[in-house]
Amino acid sequence: MPELPEVETTRRGLAPHLERRRVLGATLRRDTLRWPIAPEISDLLPGQRIEAVRRRAKYLLLDTQPGSVLLHLGMSGSLRVLPEALPPRTHDHVDLLLEGGHVLRFNDPRRFGCVLWQPAGEVHPLLAGLGPEPLSEYFHGRHLHLLSRGRTAPVKNFLMDQAVVVGVGNIYAAEALHAAGISPLRPAGRVSLSRYERLAGEVRRVLDHAITRGGTTLRDFISPDGAPGYFEQELAVYGRGGEPCRRCGRPLKEAKIGQRASVWCGGCQR
Ligand SMILES: [Zn+2]
Repeated sequence: MPELPEVETTRRGLAPHLERRRVLGATLRRDTLRWPIAPEISDLLPGQRIEAVRRRAKYLLLDTQPGSVLLHLGMSGSLRVLPEALPPRTHDHVDLLLEGGHVLRFNDPRRFGCVLWQPAGEVHPLLAGLGPEPLSEYFHGRHLHLLSRGRTAPVKNFLMDQAVVVGVGNIYAAEALHAAGISPLRPAGRVSLSRYERLAGEVRRVLDHAITRGGTTLRDFISPDGAPGYFEQELAVYGRGGEPCRRCGRPLKEAKIGQRASVWCGGCQR
């Protein structure tokens, strides 16, 4: 599944091809993906200029004057800018025809993605109630510390709660907690401010690193199999249950925490 770093890499790859371009039309080869495709894509979008390509959590937004196209890649979706003349393949569900002879083509074999519409000046219900972006100035140790007081849930679940901070998936939560030396099982309300400051820094570092990697491994703005931007050998804990901790050598523990596979070191994570 594309995670925040893959979506951000897609955004950075698409933006130079889309920004300031006018959308001339839309071709919908089906009317529903995860949800019905918004009628505004056919009715309001043609003729509009794309002003910006933004990301919020794992959603991409194509901003135009009357509103924004709201895209999610779901489990298997990808977006590519292609020559208009290139015939569509299986699972190419939506084309936005751009001035200059190109199309933005949305392919999604499993159809868990979505193409929705957010009117200008409104916040789509899917985006309401989300926590801050982890790479923004609004995400820091004080934020985590303040929100976590009195919470007894494991800190790993807390970190993956989209109302706390968006886009910290299972891999990145596991890696950041190991780097910060915090046990994923520790109750969120019992982590100190200084440890949350360290954790916030490690979350930013692992995501930044994956975005940098994503930029070198993605081709044509596709993550071929939704693999994370990390190379496997760079992961400190994720997928390494039973193997030696790279810091202290003890075998890494593995258990489900909140239904998610979790790996951590009982020696250097407390
Ligand atoms: Zn260790």
